[in-house]
Amino acid sequence: MRTPRENKDQPSVYLKTYGCQMNERDSEQVLRQLQDRGYRAAGSEKEADVILLNTCSVRDLAEQKALRKMVNLRALRKKNPGVVLGFLGCMAQRRGGALEKEMTGLDLVVGTQKFHRVPELVEQARQARLGGRPGFWAEVAEEEGSESTIREHVLTPRQVTAFVSVMQGCDMHCSFCIVPTTRGQERSRLMAEIVAEVRGLVGQGIREVTLLGQIVNLYGRRMPIREGKSAFVQLLEQLNQLEGLDRIRFTSPHPRGMKADLIGCYGRLEKLCEHLHLPVQSGSDRILKQMGRGYTAEQYRRIVDQVRQTCPEIGLTTDVIVGYPGETEADFEATRKLMEEVDFDNGFIFRYSPREGTRATKETGTPVPEKVKEERNQELLLLLTRRAEAKAQKRVGNLVEILVEGPSKTNQSRLTGRTRQNRPVVFEGGERHRGQLLQVRITASTGFTDYADPSILD
Ligand code: SF4
Repeated sequence: MRTPRENKDQPSVYLKTYGCQMNERDSEQVLRQLQDRGYRAAGSEKEADVILLNTCSVRDLAEQKALRKMVNLRALRKKNPGVVLGFLGCMAQRRGGALEKEMTGLDLVVGTQKFHRVPELVEQARQARLGGRPGFWAEVAEEEGSESTIREHVLTPRQVTAFVSVMQGCDMHCSFCIVPTTRGQERSRLMAEIVAEVRGLVGQGIREVTLLGQIVNLYGRRMPIREGKSAFVQLLEQLNQLEGLDRIRFTSPHPRGMKADLIGCYGRLEKLCEHLHLPVQSGSDRILKQMGRGYTAEQYRRIVDQVRQTCPEIGLTTDVIVGYPGETEADFEATRKLMEEVDFDNGFIFRYSPREGTRATKETGTPVPEKVKEERNQELLLLLTRRAEAKAQKRVGNLVEILVEGPSKTNQSRLTGRTRQNRPVVFEGGERHRGQLLQVRITASTGFTDYADPSILD
């Protein structure tokens, strides 16, 4: 259902999201549930009756940001004593009820398997606060079937892309990662549920879906293999048959799940976009082993070769961590060399930051000084930028297909869309172009963003 008509008499909610696409998706579900309960989306925190922060725990910095924000929000009580304040998501899950003491005046703490309980808890907290007897509610237990509660959407007019959550949690336990603690064990949704959700979205004008999961290509790994195909491949095949759907994407896969059946989907399933975001994290086998990633640099390269043989036009991006405890110059050199050889189209480089509760904090390796982490970070960013600029020149003049999503974030008078390789393209177009699949000719590029000339559009 597109965003329902709202009026000022309804209680309002302001939802701020930190972190990843999965958090964005959970926030959308929470907002939809509250709208179904008669709440309207507040334009700003100042006018809201309920303020919820959906938090991230991937780094301590992310948690500190949300905590600082909540300290500032408490000041709103001077003007609006009835305002309900709550934490949702990963930090709420990790810190739980202890947040009541850390953050006096807090009403709610709701973990990653209880998003479906938010409307009820918000109502209780609001009635208590309006009745002058504020209380505190913390819901962070695990709940069977919670993965199937993230299934509704809040679509805006002319929206053509949507995220679809297919699984929650992760059983990989990489040494540096807090996700298994905050998101719990791996739980995959039923395939029929996901296909029905996507069919419903297509019925509302959505043309592209991105399937979400912490290790999305290991979706349904306890479901039966059929004709040699994993559950994830079976799901992709079913979605590929959906009339009206033009594009399928997925994030974030794990190299351990890049088997021949999935690699073979590129080129075979016409709606599967030619883009793969495949986190490598390091190019050093010694560090990969300590991280518990479950593959070697050579195995990663082999996957990339197979993908490129199957789909030469693939857009390849990755995640890399620099400064893992004990990372030597030689380890870093192995990472730099792998990135050069694989020649990624783009990547996210993270400086290692210790997460309490992860195995890596118990690592004996010598901590890498922040200055060295920063140098290594900059060196890899420079490598990516140089490669991107070099490849960009070869794209100028090419005709590419884009799905026009809407105004460009940096310049509202321009429109933006993405190629099947997930590269943003900006052009001067009109309202009639929104939501369209267009063939455009690239006229310029910064390396990571391409520009197209409108005169070539029609
Ligand atoms: S696979 Fe990803 S989400 Fe899972 S533990 Fe490793 S880094 Fe974290």
